[in-house]
Amino acid sequence: MTSTTKYIFVTGGVTSSLGKGIIAASLAKLLQAQGYRVTIQKLDPYINVDPGTLNPYEHGECYVTNDGAETDLDLGHYERFLNVPTSQANNVTTGKIYQSVIEKERRGEFLGKTVQVIPHITNEIKERIQILGKSGDYEIVITEIGGTVGDIESLPYIESVRQLKWDLGDQNVIVVHLTLIPYLAAARELKTKPTQHSVKTLMESGVQADILVCRTEHEIGDAIRAKLARFCNVHKEAIIQSIDASTIYDVPNMMLEEGLDKVVLNKLGLKWSAPDLTSWNEFLARHKNPKNEITIGLIGKYVELQDSYKSILESFIHAGAANEVKVNVESIHSEYLNKDNIKLKLSHLDGVVVAPGFGVRGIEGKIEAVKYVREHNIPYLGICLGMQMAVIEYSRNVLGLEDANSTEMNKNTRYPVIDLMEEQKAVTNKGGTMRLGAWDCKLKEGSIVSEVYNKTNIEERHRHRYEYNNQYKEQLEAAGMISTGLNPETGLVEIIEIPEHPWFVGVQYHPEYKSTVSNPHPLFVAFVKAALKYSLPKNSVSMT
Ligand code: GLN
Repeated sequence: MTSTTKYIFVTGGVTSSLGKGIIAASLAKLLQAQGYRVTIQKLDPYINVDPGTLNPYEHGECYVTNDGAETDLDLGHYERFLNVPTSQANNVTTGKIYQSVIEKERRGEFLGKTVQVIPHITNEIKERIQILGKSGDYEIVITEIGGTVGDIESLPYIESVRQLKWDLGDQNVIVVHLTLIPYLAAARELKTKPTQHSVKTLMESGVQADILVCRTEHEIGDAIRAKLARFCNVHKEAIIQSIDASTIYDVPNMMLEEGLDKVVLNKLGLKWSAPDLTSWNEFLARHKNPKNEITIGLIGKYVELQDSYKSILESFIHAGAANEVKVNVESIHSEYLNKDNIKLKLSHLDGVVVAPGFGVRGIEGKIEAVKYVREHNIPYLGICLGMQMAVIEYSRNVLGLEDANSTEMNKNTRYPVIDLMEEQKAVTNKGGTMRLGAWDCKLKEGSIVSEVYNKTNIEERHRHRYEYNNQYKEQLEAAGMISTGLNPETGLVEIIEIPEHPWFVGVQYHPEYKSTVSNPHPLFVAFVKAALKYSLPKNSVSMT
């Protein structure tokens, strides 16, 4: 069987959290920068149909694609590195695989047969892997397999890789195994044994790793490379060091230096040429040589975990580089914010973001924060729940609608300024039922956002059930909170601004999902610019 698409699998060994997503994205970047059409896919071995029903504490941020898939946060890295949108097909879970096989069984597609992990589940997995390849849009598909080899739940995926290698041939399917080389301080030695074991575990499933990417805190020398090559059946040039980096955006260059792209292309029988990383390196230069520094407060309830607001943090890196500003993001837990400490916690900030979120916990602190920044002219960006909080705050403190709220937080509020969307009222299932993905929005002339986007019609990604209640629109607008972005079909308010304030914008959508290295999101760029403008006189005063 001939295959026109090449498949690269990225598996993980020894421990989780080694950064398979970043390695996959970096490799994809290097291949893309040589002119190859490449995409990345993530296979997640858990039984949830998608991560939309997972708490961010469990699994980090839920990333949303244009076509409304609720996905693993690694897809965010793929888009940020490649600047190519992903879709439903780019994230497959065990839940999705089984759901589809069971539906087929009920339809009678396997009539008369016993439905089994092999071949039915593995066939379904192989089909999902090849959907992107067969679309004709890509020459190379990189598939990252979540989890660590040896996990019971990963077995059908590894088996599918084995079968695909057999079906399509070694020149069309290769396996990059990411592993850890721990350093034992007491022995002052890097240790290869865990890697040997994880390569052996892969081999027990009939899969030979073609390339080893070795995560390490110290340089792995020639002797270690030789040892790994000998014990793991891997050519020495296919032992790739991945030493800790100060920023994930350094990893493509580090992989280039190690020759990962060259070994990969060589094994796949494809031509290597020097990748053109000009604009990537320009971004890095701006990111690493900031001319100014600002501090933004990120107010949420998952602040102790870096992964919960991944896309927002990355958007600030892109927007910071665009403005040549170092953006320090200070995470602030909304549950502990109140009238008495709000000044202490916020007065030094140059800008404030209230993060997306669900449920009542911590919302009074968020409302308090919005009040403070509104009254003190500190630039504000409210994202999704953050926009809703701004509407509630304005209703309570400017319109005087005491106890105004979202019906998500208080079903019986007298002033439901944020309310459940009509189409959500009959929905009972929790999974995949929010208003998801890209929706149109028309911007109002003369607003901050129309200048920021420099166009009238935009498309942004969503993930919410509640909306601005249009019954309060007249009142809110008369009092100075203007709706500057509307969905053209439904009139749903997508954006609010306060023109009296220097920079106060709330958006019902998630701009952070669309910010990439080569295309920093204009809203984040403008917000950072406004924060810089706010910070400069303040800082020059404090220096004198
Ligand atoms: N909980 C709010 C809603 O469902 C906001 C959602 C969000 O911030 N993503 O509308």
